[in-house]
Amino acid sequence: MAWVSDYKPNNGWAPTWSREIRGGALAEHRDHLIDLLNSANLGSNADTWYWSLKNSGTLPASMVQTHWNKYLPMKVNVFMRRAMLNRLPTKTNIDLKGVDVESTLCSICDDHQEDSVHLFFKCDTALQLWSCVGRCLEEVIPTFHHLNDMLSWIDNQRVLCFKREIIDTISTTLIWVLYTYQNDVVFGGNSYKKVLLFDSVVSFSFNWFCYGNSKSKINYSAWLYDLLMN
Ligand SMILES: [Zn+2]
Repeated sequence: MAWVSDYKPNNGWAPTWSREIRGGALAEHRDHLIDLLNSANLGSNADTWYWSLKNSGTLPASMVQTHWNKYLPMKVNVFMRRAMLNRLPTKTNIDLKGVDVESTLCSICDDHQEDSVHLFFKCDTALQLWSCVGRCLEEVIPTFHHLNDMLSWIDNQRVLCFKREIIDTISTTLIWVLYTYQNDVVFGGNSYKKVLLFDSVVSFSFNWFCYGNSKSKINYSAWLYDLLMN
């Protein structure tokens, strides 16, 4: 067995063996292993999973975690599906497709590379919105590095199923509002005011949840601010 730490940039591979290999079949296996290791290309990118059964190396769409919230409009669920497959036209994705973009910096903060993780979880505006949700839930929202992290966090909430559905609706709406705000900034729509983004999250999620749930007796004043704290 060899570890990445056995590779020295100047000397190549030098695995340490549990005992000295003097020859025979073991030496043949060792040489074969070294040949295999030498054919590997160690890049400087962070470690990532590679799906070797597909030429692109990416996980097939059918194996990406699915997410469907029955209260949300079809367009929001479809948007989430695209986001989870990293198929949103963020500046980084557009640039990777070879389209000439003036800048790949975030449309909202203009300070970091614009990809979906930054837009939804790392951008200052996103952090402010998540912090508002955290205050309502009376808990610190963890740092998410992928949409799957967010969904796992929702799944692990120790609350009644119906409250988990509300948290899911609010969280997904937050992602949707951030994305539509980013679009608004890019295309100069002026439909959103930054200070009112959280209000948009509250009102959209309330409308979608209540209109999608005929049994719901929740009124607007109870939504989010009171309900989740009970
Ligand atoms: Zn940003």
